Amino acid sequence: MTDVRESMYLVSEFAKEYFHKTLLNSEEGKAIGLSYFKERGFTNETIKKFSLGYSPETWDALTKEALGKGYKFEFLESTGLTIAREDRPFDRFKGRVMFPIESMSGRVLGFGGRILTNDKKAAKYLNSPESDIYHKSKVLYGIFQAKQSIAKQNNCYLVEGYTDVIQFHQAGIENVVASSGTALTPDQIRLVNRLTRNITVLFDGDAAGLRASIRGIDLILEEGMNVRVCAFPDGEDPDSFARKNSHDDLVAYLEENSKDFIQFKASLLMKEAKNDPIKKADLIRDMVVSISKIPDRIQREIYTQECARIMDISEQVLVSTLSQLIQKDI
Ligand code: ATP
Ligand code: MN
Ligand code: MN
Ligand code: MN
Repeated sequence: MTDVRESMYLVSEFAKEYFHKTLLNSEEGKAIGLSYFKERGFTNETIKKFSLGYSPETWDALTKEALGKGYKFEFLESTGLTIAREDRPFDRFKGRVMFPIESMSGRVLGFGGRILTNDKKAAKYLNSPESDIYHKSKVLYGIFQAKQSIAKQNNCYLVEGYTDVIQFHQAGIENVVASSGTALTPDQIRLVNRLTRNITVLFDGDAAGLRASIRGIDLILEEGMNVRVCAFPDGEDPDSFARKNSHDDLVAYLEENSKDFIQFKASLLMKEAKNDPIKKADLIRDMVVSISKIPDRIQREIYTQECARIMDISEQVLVSTLSQLIQKDI
């Protein structure tokens, strides 16, 4: 490890503790940040487990504090915690509740900060910029807190947001990570693949969530992993749904509604196509594209059979379309 990166980790760790202490001990933190988290139903234990914090509404509180403790300006800047301006550098995060983003081994890589209002015009979350230690396409929020449970349950729930992860932990489900708003990447999937071969995608019950899950499915299949998908009722995300339901009801919902990707995608597309033969032909091709991503030949065959059954077409048609696609890849 280079000294530069080590110094960036250290100042990020300092910032995490600073934001956490500010949340719990300062008047402003308690009145604004802590009460926000309480309103969302987060317990003290949860706040501690995820080292949640608050960045005060001042120009440069963190920057000053860090410099005073001997952290170098260079690393405050390269981690994006401080924004350099010739006359007067300032804190990137101001007046936000803070979510530290940690690596698999628990090192702080960056932060997500949420505004406290529901102002639709302002960007809801602000994130650390890409840096030598923070590559947003390579991290999954919550992986540190989830890794043991993922291995033990031999399954990983994939959600969109920070609060989805946190609310699931509070509901007693710990094998959960978030892609944090970025489109899922192969690097993120490989992180999970080190712990389990099974992913259940739980995206928000809105159009954006649905699109994201459809895109995610093919990527996960390409990594040779098994994908299940569970949709939430319209307008709900895993956080809001978990809050409204007991632990037992949540577990039951996940069990009853998690579908194999092929059932999920087929029934979704069938709904769109209705009885239109041209659309149906398109969707069959779409399904076959997904199946063609599966590296294992036997698995491909099983899925082909299932797909033919669900869509009520001959397996022969699927097999020939599939072999054309796979040929193209080679
Ligand atoms: P909340 O429940 O706090 O309103 P959410 O997690 O439900 O937030 P979504 O709008 O569903 O928020 O977005 C999912 C995730 O996408 C967020 O948790 C965050 O990581 C990321 N995200 C959302 N909006 C932004 C934004 N404006 N800039 C950067 N990332 C964002
Ligand atoms: Mn959403
Ligand atoms: Mn959401
Ligand atoms: Mn939400």
